[in-house]
Amino acid sequence: MQNTHQPIWQLSQSHLNLLESCPRKFQHRYLDRLDTAVGLDTHPHQQLGSQFHQLMQQRSLGLPIEPLLETDPRLQAWFNAFLQNPPDMIEGKQESEHQRLYWQDGFVLVAVYDLLIQNSDQAQIVDWKTYALPKQADRLRTHWQTQLYLYVLAETSDYQPEQLSMTYWFAEASTQTDAKTNCLTFPYSTDQHHQTQQSLSHLLDRLRQELTDYETGKAMQQVALTEGKCVSPNHQCEFAERCQRRLQEDATLALQDALADIDAIAEVPP
Ligand code: SF4
Repeated sequence: MQNTHQPIWQLSQSHLNLLESCPRKFQHRYLDRLDTAVGLDTHPHQQLGSQFHQLMQQRSLGLPIEPLLETDPRLQAWFNAFLQNPPDMIEGKQESEHQRLYWQDGFVLVAVYDLLIQNSDQAQIVDWKTYALPKQADRLRTHWQTQLYLYVLAETSDYQPEQLSMTYWFAEASTQTDAKTNCLTFPYSTDQHHQTQQSLSHLLDRLRQELTDYETGKAMQQVALTEGKCVSPNHQCEFAERCQRRLQEDATLALQDALADIDAIAEVPP
């Protein structure tokens, strides 16, 4: 008898971002389990970022934070910046590292909020970022973290989308005296909620099909080389060799060189 058991996929915003960016990369990471970071230390800034999140969680639980603050002067600087320049936060019940799950189309969507504040009229998600404000910060509006977090909250609470918002607070920007702003707030709406529902439905349909194809031995889609996600002057995907994109890029460059030579010859007057 055929085994019809399917693994239950828990999808976070990282899964959705990766799936949208390159399905083949999603495959290598989560299906082939080719973790190129195995054995490498986590980047020091990431470690410090995790400690800052732990610090903020301990603070909200009323636990001592001094021992953590003393481990690194940057933690102290970020925490001072938070005390002096906190984001605008609504009044209400605060919960740190609050997790919500929402079942949709056979997948479990997962959202973990750094801080969730709720009162009878509104709810606000606050996310701590320990870097400076990105140059194209407004792109966070369409990032899956923003879309998924607000979507899951709307689906798992009695709030209307218009009663919800999400705020990113940037610790590094908060320590800079010349920074124009240190946080970004995105309100939510019923229209956005419907759009996210459609985008999710489309993405999950695609994933379901790709997973079925993968079971039969068909690899998930690669992105086009022209998108610049595989190899570019400043970046190389960790799977470029495996995807043979390094070779293709070399061949393309060689072809461009050859064509340039031909152009140069053609420009020489007879
Ligand atoms: S090399 Fe390109 S196609 Fe392959 S996983 Fe990376 S981004 Fe995707």
